[in-house]
Amino acid sequence: MKPFIAANWKLHKLPSEMDAWVKALHTALAGVDLERLELALCAPYTHLPALHEALRGGGVKLGAQDVSAHDQGAYTGEVSAAMLKDVGVHYVIVGHSERREYHREDDALVHAKVEAVLGSGLVPILCVGEKLGEREAGQAEAVTLQQLEAALAGLTIKTADGLVVAYEPVWAIGTGKTATDSDAQAMCGSVRGKLRELMPDLADDVRVLYGGSMKGDNAGGLLAQPDVNGGLVGSASLDAASLAEIAAAC
Ligand code: PEP
Repeated sequence: MKPFIAANWKLHKLPSEMDAWVKALHTALAGVDLERLELALCAPYTHLPALHEALRGGGVKLGAQDVSAHDQGAYTGEVSAAMLKDVGVHYVIVGHSERREYHREDDALVHAKVEAVLGSGLVPILCVGEKLGEREAGQAEAVTLQQLEAALAGLTIKTADGLVVAYEPVWAIGTGKTATDSDAQAMCGSVRGKLRELMPDLADDVRVLYGGSMKGDNAGGLLAQPDVNGGLVGSASLDAASLAEIAAAC
């Protein structure tokens, strides 16, 4: 399985900066064998058309950070999966902890969004993971697997590359605190175990990412774990050289 690195830019950068940024990325990636990994940039909605143009032919895929659960209708401010597909999006982050926390997205909404993404033929990057208090209470695995099961219940995933799961412990996101290699492996291994129950034929080939303060200097150890098939990278993905350093660690 090729390692998969997905950048999550969150609320950063401007659409007019896309050309220059993609050029900087290609320069930074000059020594990296892009055949060895898959790379995607998940950008704000406004950036997607310009980024799609800038990435054309370069082998880096386009991703969005959220999506509406609705296909169309009177839902002011929403963006549908079909709209994302139309501007060249391949991946959609769903259920990021910042959406769950600041926008009160619950399991039912995350499930509906995963369904909408699959329905348009796009690939969800489904985020699951525990908060610090839940880890301290010994609930990390139970919480994470419950989120995973709730998001996927009753849905049909047709191929292993039609789903990506990102295990993101909330206490590690944007904090500079990273899970140890063995904790990341244990949790990603548990995610894989649950996937084997839910989709036995595909589970071993579904990419399970680790996310939470992944940087160039810790990526190698995390990515060497058997059930860590890549990373969802926030802060370190804003800088082309830092993102390339993580790509080089694959
Ligand atoms: C994220 O936003 O999913 C993330 C992992 O952020 P960071 O790398 O900054 O912790």
